[in-house]
Amino acid sequence: MSFLCAEEPTVVELVTDFGINILYHPSLALEIGHQVSNLLDDIVRGKVQMDIFVYEGSIIQGPNGSGTMNNFADRPMQDWVSDLSKVAGYVVAIGDCATWGGIPAVPPNPTDSTGMQFHKDAKGGFLGADFVSKSGLPVINIPGCPAHPDWITQILVAISTGRIKDVLIDDYHRPKTFFSDFVQTGCTNAVSFSNKIGGGFGKRGGCLFYEVGCRGPMTRARCNRILWNRQSSKTRANHPCLGCTEPGFPHHDLVKGSVFKTMKYLGFLPKDVPTGTTRLGYYASAGAGIALNAIERSLGLGQDVDTSK
Ligand code: SF4
Ligand code: SF4
Repeated sequence: MSFLCAEEPTVVELVTDFGINILYHPSLALEIGHQVSNLLDDIVRGKVQMDIFVYEGSIIQGPNGSGTMNNFADRPMQDWVSDLSKVAGYVVAIGDCATWGGIPAVPPNPTDSTGMQFHKDAKGGFLGADFVSKSGLPVINIPGCPAHPDWITQILVAISTGRIKDVLIDDYHRPKTFFSDFVQTGCTNAVSFSNKIGGGFGKRGGCLFYEVGCRGPMTRARCNRILWNRQSSKTRANHPCLGCTEPGFPHHDLVKGSVFKTMKYLGFLPKDVPTGTTRLGYYASAGAGIALNAIERSLGLGQDVDTSK
């Protein structure tokens, strides 16, 4: 659904301007029932050429490795994924479930879910650490919950125009074009972050790092540079970033107190600190300001921004 909202380029432009022939998409295809399994069979047998295999969703291996908890077109989905990955020119994983396993892979993981080439932040996943597609590239990961539509269409354009080898990928196979900057870059609350002024859900002004668990300083994604629907982003709407483009999402395996809440030591020092700083270094530079704000808040003198105006 996110993919269908793409704007630069749109899904229609992928077809009309870049010559991409969408063989099958669950929400767009006319094929149903055996037409789908016949098409997929033809691809696996080489009767129909598939240049790019784009997969969304975790690979469900349960029960006992059979994959039958998720059947599709007469077979376990994991068997289709295995066969289609072998014949594809390029393999692209879309969204957190396909990239790292996502929410289904949170312990106790009853469906034995995993990602295409990673399980959380460990390389391997369903296809294995050494997998490369026919083009010689590993799985290209476009994470997000959901993935931003323009990240998807722009990578498909890079592949279809023969430019994908110019797109560098990071250790987690994410295109650096979209996953080098932090979500904090372009956030309208950045000044409040520097000034240690806390904010809250839906409150105008104030930074969401100090109380409601914003992961913008630890999350690589261009959500505040390439806005969603060209309009906004979570943090611009004063909703904390959940860190959905980082391997390991959902962070802390959703333990109680870890979602929409800043986990802290001593009641005021954030346990998760901005990427690139050590806890000690961060506390040394920011700790006093954070502590003062915590004391002010406990005395009812807090700097949280008044949002009623
Ligand atoms: S709201 Fe989040 S992304 Fe924005 S400045 Fe604060 S911590 Fe950074
Ligand atoms: S703001 Fe954070 S949680 Fe929201 S889409 Fe971007 S990376 Fe994911």
